[in-house]
Amino acid sequence: MKKATFILLTLISFQVSAQKIIQRDPIIEQLVSEVNADSLKSHINKLVSFGTRHTLSTTTEPKRGIGAARNWVLSRFQEFAKQSEGRMTAKIDSWILKPDGKRVDKDQDMGNVMGILKGTDPNDDRIFLVSGHIDSRVSNVMNRESDAPGANDDGSGTATVIELARVMAKAKFSATIIFLVVSGEEQGLLGADYLAQKALDEKWNIEAIMNNDIVGSNNSHDTRIIDNTRVRIFSEGLPAFELDKKAGSIRSLGQENDGKARQLARYAKEVGERYVDNLEVVMVYRNDRFLRGGDHTPFVNRGFAAVRVTEMNENFEHQHQDLRTEKGIKYGDFPEFMDFEYLRKNTAMNLATLSNLAKAPATVQNLTIDTKNLTNSTTLFWQTPKSGKVKGYYVLIRETYQPFWQKKIFTTKNGINLPYSKDHYFFAVQAVGEDGNESLPVLPKVGM
Ligand SMILES: [Zn+2]
Repeated sequence: MKKATFILLTLISFQVSAQKIIQRDPIIEQLVSEVNADSLKSHINKLVSFGTRHTLSTTTEPKRGIGAARNWVLSRFQEFAKQSEGRMTAKIDSWILKPDGKRVDKDQDMGNVMGILKGTDPNDDRIFLVSGHIDSRVSNVMNRESDAPGANDDGSGTATVIELARVMAKAKFSATIIFLVVSGEEQGLLGADYLAQKALDEKWNIEAIMNNDIVGSNNSHDTRIIDNTRVRIFSEGLPAFELDKKAGSIRSLGQENDGKARQLARYAKEVGERYVDNLEVVMVYRNDRFLRGGDHTPFVNRGFAAVRVTEMNENFEHQHQDLRTEKGIKYGDFPEFMDFEYLRKNTAMNLATLSNLAKAPATVQNLTIDTKNLTNSTTLFWQTPKSGKVKGYYVLIRETYQPFWQKKIFTTKNGINLPYSKDHYFFAVQAVGEDGNESLPVLPKVGM
């Protein structure tokens, strides 16, 4: 091929892809631009300065251990709350842990640090939650004495949550956002389990949980890949919660790729990539990685939509390791192994997703697909969301074998008839707010 032809073809293919219109909400765009790599780095350096943040470490010393680290996070949230015109409050939700014969061997004073940014709409009871875990560990999970810097696991997730609170505290969202820093992850997801049960008992209307765990390093220890342009979102396929009750309809409708967590992951991919340049959100069709767990799971197990955000490649020489050098390899979870620009992008992806959700109206109600007649078309109807001002709705369409929505049709009506067969497409509807922010998609129930 001649060079000129090659250049021409390159230009044409660029123009074709450039035709995808990206519309950004200027308020979210501004917030995304305020996420700062140096700020994230300073949060992590401070977290590392507490020596260890092991769940069973001291809670009484002023500068060492998990108690001091929690108090510091609380003080940051309290500081950010000053910009919120009274909407944000902060607290440590405490309880006493009892020995469990597994990874807890004494009574321990526990605490999840929470920054709660109340929504501006009193009729909007939705909650969006973003989490990271503050506890750290070395090789032996019971070792509470040795230094465990936990810069990436999970200083990165904790710093993400702190940075989001810093940037978002002053902004107005109709729904409530909870910035959550949990304890006890390494001892068995204890802090997340405690809160998930509380949320269930108290009937919190949590629509989405973004759990960030190990999101700030860009390389693998074995395959030696270096990449700071991709991040993974893990989401369950079939729901862990009440699968026996739901299996029949999932099977007959072919909805094994459309659970709540999967919808959230798809949404985060679309919205995250809309606002964050040079970042691809890679969906992983499983709940978590091999041999590892995470704080989204206690929520998933209770029926909430929760996903795990994790870096693309992991360096296991820097996770759960005693600090040492062996055969020239430095082991340990130190800040020097992190990529703060990568962490900035991953934090910004969280920010865009949470902001777009919390600014959007609630989801549509009673979305139904008409199946009473044999037709080659599709009729959908739905009711207005419980809260939020609606500009209109997106009707989303994709072929059943496609991973992502392929067509998006805007309507201001509460129903639509489409020349696409209900037999070989999936449909969903999103409510769209006045500034263009979309709710999570809802899939139709079958009805008349
Ligand atoms: Zn972790």
